[in-house]
Amino acid sequence: MKFVYYFGDGQADGAVHQKDLLGGKGANLAEMTRLGIPVPPGFTITTEVCTHYMENGEFPSKLKKQLTESLLKIDTAMNQKFGSTSNPLLVSVRSGARQSMPGMMETVLNVGLTSKTLPGLIQQSGDERFVYDAYRRLITMYSDVVMEKAQGLTPTNGKGIREQLELILTNYKSTHNYSEDIDLTAEDLKKISELYKECVKDILGEVFPDDATTQLWGAITAVFKSWNGKRAVAYRRIENIPSNWGTAVNVQTMVFGNMGEGSATGVAFTRNPATGENQFYGEWLANAQGEDVVAGIRTPNPLNQYSTTSESNNLPCLEKDNPKIYSVLDTVKTRLEVHYHDMQDLEFTIQKGRLWMLQTRTGKRNGAAAIRIAMDMLDEGLISENEALMRISPENIDEIMHDTVDPEAEKSALLLGTGLPAGPGGATGQIVFTAEDAEIWRQQGKQVILVRNETSPEDVHGMHVASGILTAKGGMTSHAALVARGWGKCCIVGCSSLNIDFHNKKLNIGNSILNEGDWVTLNGSLGNIYDGELSLKTPNLDQNKDFKKLMILADRKRKMGIRTNADSPEDAIQARKFGAEGIGLCRTEHMFFEPERISPMREMILAHDEKARRKAVMKLLPFQRDDFYGILKVMSPHPVTIRLLDPPLHEFLPHTEEQIEKLSNEMGILASEIKSRITALHESNPMLGHRGCRLGVMYPEITEMQSRAIFEATAQLVKEGQKPFPEVMIPLVGSAPELEHQKKVVNQLAKEVMQNKNVNFKYLVGTMIELPRACVTADEIAEHAQFFSFGTNDLTQTTFGFSRDDVGSFMPQYLDSGIIKNDPFQSIDQEGVGELVKLGVQKGRSTNAKLKIGICGEHGGDPESITFFHKIGLNYVSCSPFRVPVSRLAAAQATIESKL
Ligand code: PEP
Ligand code: MG
Repeated sequence: MKFVYYFGDGQADGAVHQKDLLGGKGANLAEMTRLGIPVPPGFTITTEVCTHYMENGEFPSKLKKQLTESLLKIDTAMNQKFGSTSNPLLVSVRSGARQSMPGMMETVLNVGLTSKTLPGLIQQSGDERFVYDAYRRLITMYSDVVMEKAQGLTPTNGKGIREQLELILTNYKSTHNYSEDIDLTAEDLKKISELYKECVKDILGEVFPDDATTQLWGAITAVFKSWNGKRAVAYRRIENIPSNWGTAVNVQTMVFGNMGEGSATGVAFTRNPATGENQFYGEWLANAQGEDVVAGIRTPNPLNQYSTTSESNNLPCLEKDNPKIYSVLDTVKTRLEVHYHDMQDLEFTIQKGRLWMLQTRTGKRNGAAAIRIAMDMLDEGLISENEALMRISPENIDEIMHDTVDPEAEKSALLLGTGLPAGPGGATGQIVFTAEDAEIWRQQGKQVILVRNETSPEDVHGMHVASGILTAKGGMTSHAALVARGWGKCCIVGCSSLNIDFHNKKLNIGNSILNEGDWVTLNGSLGNIYDGELSLKTPNLDQNKDFKKLMILADRKRKMGIRTNADSPEDAIQARKFGAEGIGLCRTEHMFFEPERISPMREMILAHDEKARRKAVMKLLPFQRDDFYGILKVMSPHPVTIRLLDPPLHEFLPHTEEQIEKLSNEMGILASEIKSRITALHESNPMLGHRGCRLGVMYPEITEMQSRAIFEATAQLVKEGQKPFPEVMIPLVGSAPELEHQKKVVNQLAKEVMQNKNVNFKYLVGTMIELPRACVTADEIAEHAQFFSFGTNDLTQTTFGFSRDDVGSFMPQYLDSGIIKNDPFQSIDQEGVGELVKLGVQKGRSTNAKLKIGICGEHGGDPESITFFHKIGLNYVSCSPFRVPVSRLAAAQATIESKL
């Protein structure tokens, strides 16, 4: 069995496809070597050796022989010898898992320096100071990684060997009045090395090994062991990386960027990772080691003219300083990008005028850059259309659509608490506790964050003016979440560590107390709440031609239609701009909260008999007709699915004494009578009570009024030459007779309006499928429906038996403990709720082959759910306006994936 894979001098045993065996780093080093790129020779010990060692506590017996052979190959390639007294070779020993685990495992550099090899290296390099500096660094790393951590020693804070050695250095500098490391002479470093070795012996009870081969095996063993180190284990848990993958170990010739004149080190991106522009971008430092650039101790120089900023324009560019090396590096860059078909992140070292590439990997980039790079590479013929589409993540799109918290500011901010990430992007503002205050403060030109226990339709005006919304309760389909997402507004819900004292206008979150007017910042994409005002970044979507191109490409690929959930002409216009092809859900309940509408609505609910109810309902007709006229007009000729009234009626009733008094005056009835009617309407479980189509069945006059409003608006628009296309949707149907009942009412009204107005128009009647029984009896229901739209919010609620407004009290713990893997109100529960949707689709189409089927629950904007809906054959998904672009992309990706 092969355990060791050599690379060097243009030849490599491994290749890029062997990431599982060689780890990402090892596979890329092999691949770069194969491409003829100058890589310091070395070898990779496979991940299988790691798992063998973890299981058996020893290495496979054949490892030693293979390792020795590969070491000899390195000696030959470098014309040096590991352990030689006259011409010694030094190596680095680094980890490298399949998936990058930055900084989570260990590294030992300068392995091979001993009392015997030191003189040889001094002679070879001609720089005694450099050699003793390398030696003291080796002692530090080796004693820390191999002799302490790998032995399972856990010293108390500040007492680790590394800290003790650093203390020696600090003390030495201060007694010699040195302020910088650079002040230390060769003689100083020699003395410090001796002090280090004594300290190691005193503290760890063992001598620092003075033999190159012992050092090498010690380092290899320690790096393998670091796979099970604390940091690595914690990181794997967060990132879901299986513990049986193991890490590879890379042993590679040391090259030095700090060997004086003609030596340097740097990091670069093959394209600008902040903008995506196709320009080589990077930083470098003369006479320095790699970590000096990364650690930010010295201000790095710009790689070229392009990378120069106003602060760095007087610093030397490598492009000008060393044009020969720069041009080799530039050729390597092009070579790597063409080979990998993606933007690369490179590390290089120049040792005495010779360029070495130490690493290449896929470069991290922000959303705007990701889209630009994908579109440019498509134009350049580097990648296919499918590859370009698959490169973009939903987060990339989110990032370019909303203000986001500046990641730099976020790093150092105080995290007050967390909640569910209900509305995307970032927002900052002063906290207020009522919708009314939000409006008043806003009028005074202030920026506010509205903080509530939960929101209700009565808070909508305050929610609208707030920069962000934060609630203590509620889940991903709570009122606040639905409304905020609809507007693309930043929102965090269900923050269980938040306690609000409304009376004193204070809140308590975690260990902090905040007062009205204090500043907070929300990251609604992560659910993080920060103290203070953090800076935000604002994108400009209108001018983003790459985004437009990406969307056109996505539309060409996708099979599913993308509609939007919108209940106002403004939202509908916004959604059209984002590419919605119709409205999949127009909720009508939000239309009844304006002052002139809420009174007739309340009158209707409080009415004692049909006659009184009809009278009140008819007062709402002109308002509703106007609403539908506006929406149907802006969406013409696209379909608009209008859902008839759905929520329990008590939601519209007055709550306060003041409201009751006002209504009593308006209606001319006693306040006590209103109160007794409110009591009579009280339900223990309103979500399972008198709501949905049950309202229309009990009070057909509501269905009649809404249908009349829809059809009269339609008739008017047809007369005006528009092409309105209403689809009337009956909510919360659980049995075929319910739909039959309501459909009859709707059809009768359509007929009447057509006759009265003397126009013909097209319309459909269909239903929401949002109860388990509706899925199971979908074959019967489909006989009466022209379309189905799955209401996966209610379907999730009724399938799990989880109240969607109360999940905040247990969902975080369910997720933490792994009882539930993902919040089912965010991403469809494929095994449970998803199976019911599948059944509903099959049964529905079994009796009605032409049935059009969509989904309008919040899952319509979730990429993973969209993939599932594509697989089970839905015709469209409908989501909030600001999710439309993400859904267009996700639907295209689902089509591509299903063909792979
Ligand atoms: C649903 O239940 O999925 C739905 C879209 O309706 P609502 O959220 O308004 O109940
Ligand atoms: Mg519903």
